[in-house]
Amino acid sequence: MLKLKNINTYYGKVHALKNVSLHLAEGEIVTLIGANGAGKTTILNTISGVTPASGGDLLFQKEEIKALTPDRIVKLGISQVPEGRQVFKPMTVEENLELGAYLRYRARDPKTEILKDKEEIFQLFPRLEERRKQAAGTMSGGEQQMLAIGRALMARPKLLLLDEPSMGLAPLVVQEIFRVLQRLRDERGVTILLVEQNAKAALKLADRGYVLETGKVILEGAADELLENAEVKRAYLGKD
Ligand code: ATP
Repeated sequence: MLKLKNINTYYGKVHALKNVSLHLAEGEIVTLIGANGAGKTTILNTISGVTPASGGDLLFQKEEIKALTPDRIVKLGISQVPEGRQVFKPMTVEENLELGAYLRYRARDPKTEILKDKEEIFQLFPRLEERRKQAAGTMSGGEQQMLAIGRALMARPKLLLLDEPSMGLAPLVVQEIFRVLQRLRDERGVTILLVEQNAKAALKLADRGYVLETGKVILEGAADELLENAEVKRAYLGKD
């Protein structure tokens, strides 16, 4: 479904991605792990068109998307949940969700479609329904993360890009969010690319993973193999 081949991305003179190649099959959950600054966020931003690649191939459903603007990429079916959630704090939960649905406004009956999509998101995250009229900025970090995911889902993505969804959240909330990601894949066939500092939890959820170091892919494999890999254990999984 998604293929990066020899992708190179720069910030000015900083060469952030060096010949990165990776792929995702439809319905897969794939995780990117690596230390701070390894290039994980840059990979997501390169796919979503926020930080375009300067070289290499970027194919989504066999279409070259490297030169497309982020709004075109969303229309093709790729949505990103950014690092730090970035919900619109003064706006309510419902208003944030409606913003994520801007593509729906061109539908024949946008009101009905948006209502249906919101109900589906409230099924996934009942806590958002309870708080539908609450200003997003007054919610807990976990609730804001749920809202950020919900907002991305309002565009009905085929591929969901998530940047550190567990950051700063309590373990139980992380479990709840990861359960929803699993459901999205199992029940709706959404393909997921997940960037995580919490490598252990991410590899337990994922089918496959890529390990990045200073802008390069240094290792790739099945998630259960990476969990057992001595080097990965030493560098990224901590003790126990
Ligand atoms: P983190 O977990 O800290 O977010 P990361 O693996 O996501 O790390 P990136 O944010 O992709 O890493 O950064 C990759 C490299 O690109 C780093 O060396 C970083 O300093 C550099 N970089 C990122 N954003 C910019 C920017 N806007 N301008 C210049 N350099 C940048």
